[in-house]
Amino acid sequence: MTVKLRFAPSPTGYLHVGNARLALINWLYARKLGGGMVLRLDDTDAERSTEEYALGIQEDLIWLGLEWSELKKQSDRSDAYDAAFTTLRDAGRLYACYETSEELDYKRKRQLARKLPPVYDRAALDLSKDQIAAYEAEGRKPHWRFLLEQNVVVWKDEVRGLVEVDCASMSDPVLIRSDGRPLYHLPSVVDDIDFAISHVIRGEDHVSNTALHIQIFNALGAKVPAFAHLPLLMGPEGGPLSKREGSQSLREMRESGIEAMTVNSLLARLGTSDNVEIRRNLQALVDGFDMGRFSRAAAKFDPAELLNLNAKLLHELDWADVKDRVSLGGASEEFWLAIRKNLAVLSDINDWWQVVEGSVAPVVEDAAFLKVAADLLPDGDFTLESWKSWTTAVKEKTGAKGKELFMPLRLALTGKPHGPGMNTLLPLIGREKTLARLSGKAA
Ligand code: GLU
Repeated sequence: MTVKLRFAPSPTGYLHVGNARLALINWLYARKLGGGMVLRLDDTDAERSTEEYALGIQEDLIWLGLEWSELKKQSDRSDAYDAAFTTLRDAGRLYACYETSEELDYKRKRQLARKLPPVYDRAALDLSKDQIAAYEAEGRKPHWRFLLEQNVVVWKDEVRGLVEVDCASMSDPVLIRSDGRPLYHLPSVVDDIDFAISHVIRGEDHVSNTALHIQIFNALGAKVPAFAHLPLLMGPEGGPLSKREGSQSLREMRESGIEAMTVNSLLARLGTSDNVEIRRNLQALVDGFDMGRFSRAAAKFDPAELLNLNAKLLHELDWADVKDRVSLGGASEEFWLAIRKNLAVLSDINDWWQVVEGSVAPVVEDAAFLKVAADLLPDGDFTLESWKSWTTAVKEKTGAKGKELFMPLRLALTGKPHGPGMNTLLPLIGREKTLARLSGKAA
């Protein structure tokens, strides 16, 4: 079997964390099984879909590293949908309906008042030729419903196990609107058939859609793909993702300095019982990927976790991983290794570059102490040992020890109370700046 998955966003907005998770899991599963992933843009809603969003989605996926093997747009495929429409209509599986939305609303209300499920009553199947002619004369255009077989559709879901959906309690779905536009179901199934999709992974909000899609696959004489429905993301407390968390778009994350592999590492594990572990590249996630680890239990997403993980990731990255993204002329591996453990986001690197190469306003509390320290600086180029020998000499001379000894020196040399080990910073700062800062001058 050729393995092909698809990620099918609607370009009516930028990708948010929930979409990104589906994209990632489709991509990882495709890679794990040695197949590709189609990027399918569900852009049949011409009013709400924009080119800007379509491009934005592609940009975000590229940022995550989730490249697609084929790019398809539903707006290019109306001929295929028309052909499927004709096939289904000729097979008696699509029927024309003329009710207005007010009429349908009224029917539903009456059913509910009688404590009946608000299922479409198939009245359109009984329309006479004359009634149809009268509607057409009135200018009504039909919408088209798919005639469901009223049986139980069963599939083995890769996340939910055996799923059974009773279609007897479902309304025949509208596949084509009265303006001729196909709604989501038909294009989705036709594309899955034409693009030879082997596995459909999507959110559990699609479970009942899948039952009717399976009927459409069958009605079109096509092979039914495998399905996996992932639980939707919840907020940190277990409730639905709040607007703030849920709307967190990938571009917002990117702009706030979160690394793509931080997002990938977290999203690959949400909804499994495995601990989130930082992975430095996608291949490492593919190696550890197992669809069987996902459960039906709610997957909680906590944006605060992203920040913690981001710091962890940066602390592990090598200079080679970041050097092309750092535009600080002269920055070296030595500098990176000295400061990486103090970064929450990569752009924090600028603060430390400022400390070693730029100008710092020293914080001076006891100028006399710093003067003594300046006179005791070791000769020659500073090395990793210089800090130790220097502070030992200052301690002997002044009697200061511990924080009393180290903090005034750190504050003078870096302008900050916390930061990388001074033994690594001192050689990077160098003698000239050290002397100036110890004398209270910005340098
Ligand atoms: N555009 C649909 C959505 O975002 C695709 C669902 C599917 O994967 O079939 O919900």
